[in-house]
Amino acid sequence: MTTRVLVTGATGFVAGHCIAELLDHGYVVRATVRDLAAHAKRAHLTDLARRTGGDLEFVAASLDDDAGWAEAVADCDTVLHVASPFPATPPDDERELIEPAVEGTLRVLRAAAAAGVRRVVLTSSVAAVAYGHEVDAVRTEDDWSVVDRIPAYQKSKTLAERAAWEFAESTSATTELVVLNPGMILGPLLEARTSTSHEPVRRLLARDVPGSVKTGWTPVDVRDLAVAHRLAMEVPEAAGNRYICATDPLWMGDMADLLARDFAAEGFRVPTRVLPNWLVRLVAIFDKGVRLTVPVLGRTEHVSADKAHRELGWTMRPIEDTIRDTADSLIAFGIVTAPDRSVTSSRAAVRTR
Ligand code: NAP
Repeated sequence: MTTRVLVTGATGFVAGHCIAELLDHGYVVRATVRDLAAHAKRAHLTDLARRTGGDLEFVAASLDDDAGWAEAVADCDTVLHVASPFPATPPDDERELIEPAVEGTLRVLRAAAAAGVRRVVLTSSVAAVAYGHEVDAVRTEDDWSVVDRIPAYQKSKTLAERAAWEFAESTSATTELVVLNPGMILGPLLEARTSTSHEPVRRLLARDVPGSVKTGWTPVDVRDLAVAHRLAMEVPEAAGNRYICATDPLWMGDMADLLARDFAAEGFRVPTRVLPNWLVRLVAIFDKGVRLTVPVLGRTEHVSADKAHRELGWTMRPIEDTIRDTADSLIAFGIVTAPDRSVTSSRAAVRTR
């Protein structure tokens, strides 16, 4: 018998890779989109299913509305709840992020519980683990970000995950919850649309920035994260657990050095200097995007993915491969143009799996 899985937010970067991973492993996939009439936004997935003979259907549901969720979860064994707003610059009113994240998660969980779904896997973030702490330390699944000391996006992820655990612990329904807490997600695109997390790589390659800000992240490859979602569905003992999916800290300056080294031959002149903090603070007065980096200047996240390695049997490819493939993909999809245009076409085949 085939197993049907619902994936929320099919048009997103991570959800697309999760759908590819599930189809590859013989699952029947139903996926939510906000607007069923917007065929172009999901054409890459329709093509993928057609090419691979995968069983994929789309249904309409929004995180802002109850409509459609009962139908979306019907006859599903598992739900991967991936959708959540992740804008490049936060809205002026943080409720625009928090409400869809929290209320949307509860909508999905309520519908799943009512329909007898076996397990929900929630895509949370290290944003719900590693932010707002006064002391720098390696954070684990025992840690929670400090809500009154963090920006809107981090708050939306923390509050949504907390609401999910409260729901799972309070309900008499038998639906299991597993949460993944990925770091900054990089890796190849499936279509010519980026996620917010591609911005540092894009900006460095395109020389949109004069240098790197002194900050770092704990990245994860989207292809490996898609595998983690499948394992979180499949491993019986995962029920009731959070799993951090991220690697060692990567400073933006080190990312720039790697890109400069690997893409110089094609004419890319990636800026490798690290900008002084005082300059970033000055620019932040005028630039809302830069302002987001001020609280993390001189700092990086530190998290441990040991639990995912140990309990899910999850592994991650070297981060250098991820960054290279991310850049290749941005070039192949024409999001960044190679100064030497003759090189662009030779970069068409980036491994997406
Ligand atoms: P993305 O490409 O921006 O995808 C976000 C998805 O959520 C899109 O499908 C979007 O639909 C959907 N969405 C947003 N608001 C919605 C609403 N009100 N109702 C229904 N759908 C809505 O982001 P991503 O990088 O794939 O992120 C996927 C998940 O991973 C998110 O939960 C994010 O918080 C989490 N995460 C991301 C990172 C990262 O570095 N990328 C790191 C940690 C965790 P539309 O296309 O219709 O807007």
